[in-house]
Amino acid sequence: GGLRVQISPVRIQGRRGALAAFEDMSGMEQAEAIRRDFVANVSHELRTPLTALVGFIETLKGPARDDAPARDRFLSVMESEAGRMMRLVNDLLSLSRVQSEERRLPSETVEILALLRRATMAQAALADAAGVSLEIETDLPEAQVRGDSDQLTQVFLNLIENAVKYGGAGKVVTLKVSQVAREPVLKGPAVQIEVIDRGEGIDAIHLPRLTERFYRVDTHRSRSQGGTGLGLAIVKHIINRHRGRFRITSERGKGSNFIVILPSVSG
Ligand code: ADP
Repeated sequence: GGLRVQISPVRIQGRRGALAAFEDMSGMEQAEAIRRDFVANVSHELRTPLTALVGFIETLKGPARDDAPARDRFLSVMESEAGRMMRLVNDLLSLSRVQSEERRLPSETVEILALLRRATMAQAALADAAGVSLEIETDLPEAQVRGDSDQLTQVFLNLIENAVKYGGAGKVVTLKVSQVAREPVLKGPAVQIEVIDRGEGIDAIHLPRLTERFYRVDTHRSRSQGGTGLGLAIVKHIINRHRGRFRITSERGKGSNFIVILPSVSG
């Protein structure tokens, strides 16, 4: 044995430094600070797996060259670090695509119950592996919204994945769908979809920031679960594009409720 790869921790000043001075800035300065902060975060998130990859390549070329078991171990770590970079780049691309379309109203009519059934099926293997069961609860025979079905699928894949990852092994995750006759903010009929888990919940101080890019309650945990910290940012922008609403409520020790409200096609 004795092979060790030293990965030095990388630090950025971005987040706290930028936010402390935030209130004294003009709107344009704020936008610029947010952009800089985002670039710093992306660089940091990419540099971490890259640093590991470079370290492992060096080791494979040198000390581990003739050590077959070590080589296999290093290769599988390299595979997972490369996978992390791939997920990050894919999420960055989705986010940028969604943001560029945000002003264009989606035009398809989407039957949300069928879409939720498909999303639930797609996450069944993940849920199984975590010992979580997924259920859909509704009195409605169907529910139509105006939307983009690929993007709405993305929303519920992300929310179900989070509920499974953070929802606690052996627990039930419920997707509850109901019709709202007149949604007060949207000023019209709407469909409400709640993704409810019975996991550890989230402290109230975090709730307003969860949809920020790269904001995580526990960075180490998110990373070890394969998270990019972009899932809820993508969800928020997709729902904005749909002129819908997104709310999160949570109680420590009881679980969380991620509530998506979308305008109905017909009342
Ligand atoms: P990640 O890739 O880290 O999961 P997200 O944007 O999807 O990124 O979520 C941001 C953070 O919100 C997560 O890191 C986690 O701390 C918290 N979070 C999201 N969903 C849940 C949930 N259902 N229960 C508890 N915490 C959650």
